[in-house]
Parts: sequence; C-alpha cells; structure tokens
Amino acid sequence: MAEINRAVKGTNDILPSDVYKWQFVENKMLETAALFGFSEIRVPVFEHTEVFKRSVGDTTDVVQKEMYTFDDKGGRSITLRPELTAGVVRSVLENGLTNGPLPLKVCYIGGCYRYEKPQAGRLREFHQFGVECVGAAAPSADAEVIALAKQVLDNIGIQKVSLEINSIGCPECRKKYQEALKEYFRKNIDTLCATCRDRLERNPMRILDCKSPVCKGLCENAPVIIDYLCEDCENHFKEVKKHLDSAEIKYTVNPKIVRGLDYYTRTVFEFVSGDIGAQSTVCGGGRYDGLIAQMGGQPTASLGFAMGIERLMMVLEAQKTELPKRAGCDLYIAAMGNNASLKATALCNDLRTDGFKVQTDICNKGLKAQMKYADKIGAGFTLVLGDNELESNKANLKNMQTGELCEVTLDNLADQLFSAINKNALENLADSIIKE
Ligand code: ATP
Ligand code: MG
Repeated sequence: MAEINRAVKGTNDILPSDVYKWQFVENKMLETAALFGFSEIRVPVFEHTEVFKRSVGDTTDVVQKEMYTFDDKGGRSITLRPELTAGVVRSVLENGLTNGPLPLKVCYIGGCYRYEKPQAGRLREFHQFGVECVGAAAPSADAEVIALAKQVLDNIGIQKVSLEINSIGCPECRKKYQEALKEYFRKNIDTLCATCRDRLERNPMRILDCKSPVCKGLCENAPVIIDYLCEDCENHFKEVKKHLDSAEIKYTVNPKIVRGLDYYTRTVFEFVSGDIGAQSTVCGGGRYDGLIAQMGGQPTASLGFAMGIERLMMVLEAQKTELPKRAGCDLYIAAMGNNASLKATALCNDLRTDGFKVQTDICNKGLKAQMKYADKIGAGFTLVLGDNELESNKANLKNMQTGELCEVTLDNLADQLFSAINKNALENLADSIIKE
C-alpha cells in the first residue's frame, strides 16, 4: 500500500511552530552575505545529470551512490541537485554573468537531495546556504569567503565551532601526490573496500574521503598533499593564512581534509561543531579554479562554501539558543452576531492595510470559543464587538498579557492599537531591565 500518511524516509517537514527559526537563520544568512556584496541567485532543483557528473566528479560518493537520477518523459536524464554549486556555475555561464564585473558574488539557499543512509544530521532532503565568488584568484578572496562563513555562524549564534583549513594543490602538484598515494594504497589493496579498489587507479584522492572504517584506518598513515604542494600553491596557502591572521580568524591546518567533491583546488576548509556528534561538519568549502573551464567557460578562478542548515539547527537546539519569535497576531477581534461580524471584517481589512496582524472569527464560533482561540494563538490584544459596541462606536481593547482594558473608539483604531502595542513593549522592556 502506498504510504500516503508518511513522509519519505530521510525527509522532514518544517512545521508552522518551528518555521520562525528557519526564517531567522535564513534572514541572517542573506543579510550577512549582503554585507560582503553577495546577492541571491535561485536556480532549478533539477538539472541535466551531466551537470553534476562533470563538476562533482564521476568517482565521488555523491555521483556514484547518492544521486536521485531518472529519465523524464522526454527521455532526458535528470538529477535532483545534490548540491548547488554545479547548477549555479551552469547558470552563471548560460546567462553570461562572467561578462559582467568580476568578481561575481552570489549566494543561495535551497534543498539538496542525496540518497544516503538517514541518521542524525544526514538526510535525503536537506538544505544548504552557500556562496560562490567567481573570478577572484588572490589569497585575500579565500580569506574573505572564510570570513563570511565565520560571520554567518557568529550572527546566527553558533558557538564552539572550529575552522580547519588545508590546501589540496593544483593538478600539477597532484600528479606527484597521486603517484605517492597509489603506491601507498597498492600495498594495502586487499584491505580497501570495493569502491576504493576501483578508485585506486582512477582517482586515489577519493579514498581519503571514504567513510568505511577500514579505508579510514588505512588513510591515517597515508601521505598528505600538503607535503607535495608546488611553489605557487604553497605561496598561495601561506598568503591565505596571513590574511586570516590579519582578520584575527582562528584556524588549524588539518592536512587530512580533502573534501568530497572533485572540483576543489588549493584552499579547502571546514567548520566543525563540537555540539552535534558524528555529523559535525556544518560548513564545507574551498577553491575550484578549474571548474568553470571544465563546465565550458573561460578559465576563471573561483571559490565558495556550503552550510548544512539542518546541522546548524541541531547546534542551536543543543545550545538551547532561544531565537526571536515574532508575534503571530497583534489583535484578535471577537464578534458576536452578524452585524458585529461584518464590522469586524471591515476593521480587519483596514488594520491589515496598515500593517497589523489581525484575525477575527471565520468559523461562527461562540464568544467563549473565540476568546479561547485568541488565547491559544497568542494574540497580543483582543477586542470584543457586540451590539452595544456597534451602537456606541466604542469597545474595550484587552491586553492579553496583563488583562488590562483600555477603551478605544472604532474609528482610528490603527493609531490606538499602535499606541497600545508600543506601551506594552516599553513596559516589558522596563520589566526586563529591572529584573536584570
Ligand atoms: P559529509 O562528509 O558529512 O557527508 P559532505 O562532504 O558530503 O559532508 P558537502 O557536499 O560539502 O558535504 O556539503 C556541505 C554541507 O552540507 C555539509 O558540511 C553538511 O553540513 C551538509 N550536508 C551534506 N550532506 C548532508 C546530508 N545528507 N544531510 C544533511 N546535511 C548535509
Ligand atoms: Mg557526504
């Protein structure tokens, strides 16, 4: 039987009672990105499969095991995006954005799809915030992008996060390194997992990112790329570190970081949280100087990062961080009888035009049930309308927090509600200052 009452394994709903957390986090991300000059770009959830094969890489876990790929009714091979960089680069090239001023700075928020084993911090639909900085070769660009990631994490309130950086060099320095790696792993070929045995000749660096415990164990003593960097890559890495020092951004060099996607070159980095167990990388990124040419553009040095928003939510949860919740309803107008209901409809419309969050009864409930509802949805104020109120054109505005009543006239309600909301906010502020 089709499971129509259950979400697909590895997917989550974000319910109305929680969505304020997502809105807060996403707003902080976009606001912070804007401080660095990054504008949002929105690209499709699916692309031609080749877009990902070409960029993420044929021998990566993502392409080999994790993609949601299918033929559409027109016989095209389509893949739900496992990440956004590939699609963004495709869009940048297709729309000629590299012909405009460089560096081009774009950011995104969106769902990603990977067929993985679901567990804490590992989902089949998850969300990423990320940035791409296209056409910036200098080491200061690496530092700027890392600084942006750091500031996003700070602005959201993520504590206890550490930055690890590495350089995985350019195709030139990798030649020597890959030979050294092959030599190392060939000696242990029988212990490698089947996938890694296959990777050994084609792309030995992928073995370093394998999740199987045996391969992980073998990787412990494998040669590290940082010992094989060419002079240019070595200097670039030195300068990146100097810029990070200059911005007082703390980091450790972790020569074991290689990242799971093939397009990276030179600087790679991760932000790791001490708060959420095994799936602890909340942000991963780096340079991809070869990717744009690989995707059919002119060679254009570029870099970026992506953060897993669900993992950030887990950190906030673990830290017990209270995120600001905006009032869902400023005023609930309870109406008794048809004439009052008509008046309530008119008042609500006017107040909403003035920007207030206002609700009234739309179920023909009795007064008691209406007040109960107003209380449950957390209305800041209520106003009861009956025949008397319609006749006198006056009613009592009730502060639901204090129970205080204040007589208002039904004309000009917006001004009076505005004053009442502000008075309440000031009193709350004064209270909290006295408590402190
Ligand atoms: P991991 O090593 O944890 O599998 P990755 O190297 O595959 O991560 P990237 O492709 O670099 O991750 O994606 C960037 C970020 O997206 C990760 O650091 C993580 O925060 C988040 N992320 C990746 N895969 C998932 C997933 N399946 N569920 C939730 N978040 C994820
Ligand atoms: Mg992964």
